Amino acid sequence: MNAPIDTPSLTPDDIKRFGPDPLAMFSRNLASVEERIVRACARAGRARETVRLLPITKTVPAHILRFAYAAGIRDFGENKIQEAVAKRAELANLAIDWCIVGHLQTNKVKYLTRFAREFHALDSVRLAEALNARLDREDRSLDVYVQVNTSAEESKYGLQPEELLPFLDGLGRFPRLKPRGLMTLAVFSTDLDKVRPCLERLRELRDVAVKDHPAIRELSMGMSNDFEEAIVQGADVVRVGEAIFGKRSTPDGHYWPVAAKP
Ligand SMILES: *Cc1c(COP(=O)(O)O)cnc(C)c1O
Repeated sequence: MNAPIDTPSLTPDDIKRFGPDPLAMFSRNLASVEERIVRACARAGRARETVRLLPITKTVPAHILRFAYAAGIRDFGENKIQEAVAKRAELANLAIDWCIVGHLQTNKVKYLTRFAREFHALDSVRLAEALNARLDREDRSLDVYVQVNTSAEESKYGLQPEELLPFLDGLGRFPRLKPRGLMTLAVFSTDLDKVRPCLERLRELRDVAVKDHPAIRELSMGMSNDFEEAIVQGADVVRVGEAIFGKRSTPDGHYWPVAAKP
């Protein structure tokens, strides 16, 4: 498909953050992420096609995302629903698949069910119920990943590991939700020895869960700083932001309550 690419003009701030040629920057970064995925797959003895790259576009302004689209990106992962809604309105003429990866308040489900293809942060029965009711009205289904807190950090969203199986048992009441797997945010650290236990934990939880819940197959884990390790640990979806779009100026604390990076 030939993308309808207009060339939005760049503000001085855009140029500071994305350089004079964001298309070149995104293409270069994508190629390098792709190379790293290929190498991690080789290390893990996995076929490249078993890993899906979900680019995370949060904080990248909508007009800049036209360059991402031009670079071939079609799945756009956003953390905050309001940000996704605004960008979608601005990019309505592009064939984008929107994926919401961040915590959602129950009173915001209607915004998500209008357009999102998948949701990676399902973490309560109340939310499942609200999503299902809204999806029912719109006569559609939604792919969901159940978020688990594997880091034991109190600040993180997600079910506690011991809550997972009872939660999955109850999901059958919500037929509009199509469970795909589990999602986690590992500990934020550049020390892989700290990150690895979270990734392993999610895989172990999946291996148990899948016995009674065959739809719980995939692992959504791995971000810019740990996606290679996540692939080695079995990730099916890696959610990568900064390695593609460059450093964000918004602190992570805007998206989830975090302790300072160790
Ligand atoms: C921002 C974000 C990512 C990507 O993080 P990077 O470090 O930029 O790769 C992944 N998952 C979620 C839920 C996010 O909010």
